[in-house]
Amino acid sequence: MRIVLLGAPGSGKGTQAQRLQAKYGVPQVSSGDLLRDAVARGTELGLKAKAVMEAGQLVSDDIVLGLIRDRLARPDAANGFILDGFPRNEDQANSLNALLEDIGQPLDAVLLLDVRRETLMQRLAGRRICPKCGTVYNVHSLNGATTCPREGAELFQRPDDKEEVIGRRLEVYEKQTQPLIAYYAKLGLLRTIAGEGELDSVFERMEAAALAKPLPPSSVKVSTAKVPKKKVVVKAARKAAKKTRKVAVKTAKVKAARKSAPKAKRAKAAARTAKRAKVAKKQSARKAGRKPARKK
Ligand SMILES: [Zn+2]
Repeated sequence: MRIVLLGAPGSGKGTQAQRLQAKYGVPQVSSGDLLRDAVARGTELGLKAKAVMEAGQLVSDDIVLGLIRDRLARPDAANGFILDGFPRNEDQANSLNALLEDIGQPLDAVLLLDVRRETLMQRLAGRRICPKCGTVYNVHSLNGATTCPREGAELFQRPDDKEEVIGRRLEVYEKQTQPLIAYYAKLGLLRTIAGEGELDSVFERMEAAALAKPLPPSSVKVSTAKVPKKKVVVKAARKAAKKTRKVAVKTAKVKAARKSAPKAKRAKAAARTAKRAKVAKKQSARKAGRKPARKK
């Protein structure tokens, strides 16, 4: 399972990635986490990144790609990975493709978790976080409570979850992601997943798309049970095709016969005329009282 995840803030991308990771044992690889981790561990690339960040500059794609390359070489990524937060533009997507080709691990799919803007706004604006345990809640499921049901800490709203900021965040996301969607669609890798509804149903759709299954698991079961029937159908179809071919051959023969019919008819008619002439000759000869002249 080698996938890139695309999804707006509030699309539930993180939750779904965690579930894929838990079920399939493939690591979720986020470029932000990689950077923080490399800096914290003081690796060569981490030190480079640290220097760049301390100089107030953006970490270059080369450094991020290097981190991704190192990360994917670890044993836990042997069965695949879920890339999150990278690439963010077409250039990065091109570099990523080259890197994955190079290590022989090309992408299986790019999953786009599709959620309507109104739903995103509602989810993000309603988000409340517990400062003690870090649990993320939504006001719609809190029934008016303003404290954490676990230990009673006062919940808070992240500054960038305020409504006026959310609109801007979603705009930035759309502007950034649209070219990537087009890019991966062109490569035939993009799979759009309806991201609204029950968490389990969304996960089922994510799984189906990630595993390149053409049908959801329930439908696959049904079709497996019907395999013998399918064989019969195939047999019947073959028989019908054979019959059709036979009929076609027959029709062709009849057509050919019809085409040559005038010739045959003429020949037959000529033969009849000749016979009649012979008989008439015999009769007239008998009438004349003498034997017909024999052919020599
Ligand atoms: Zn709490």
